[in-house]
Amino acid sequence: MATIQVPCRFCNKTEHVRKHGTGHAGFTRFRCLECKRCFQLDYAYEACKPGVKDKIIEMAMNSSGVRETGRVLNVAYNTVLNTLKNCMCPMIPRGYIC
Ligand SMILES: [Zn+2]
Repeated sequence: MATIQVPCRFCNKTEHVRKHGTGHAGFTRFRCLECKRCFQLDYAYEACKPGVKDKIIEMAMNSSGVRETGRVLNVAYNTVLNTLKNCMCPMIPRGYIC
């Protein structure tokens, strides 16, 4: 039987990661006992995948519109808005979006 070590998405440690059931889309969930967070290796919705929120901020910095960003990255319009509102990027001032 082969064992696959899954690194934690948040702290990159492999020794404290355990299976934690399945998500709504049927993908296996994992729980890191070190940082007490849950994650999946694959997600059905694009916005949950790692790196998508960074791409949203990067596209905003390159003057892409909110609707264009949502269309290109295949995420919802409100996901783009909430990501930009909650980001701590100093280049995007608070209140710029709304
Ligand atoms: Zn962790």
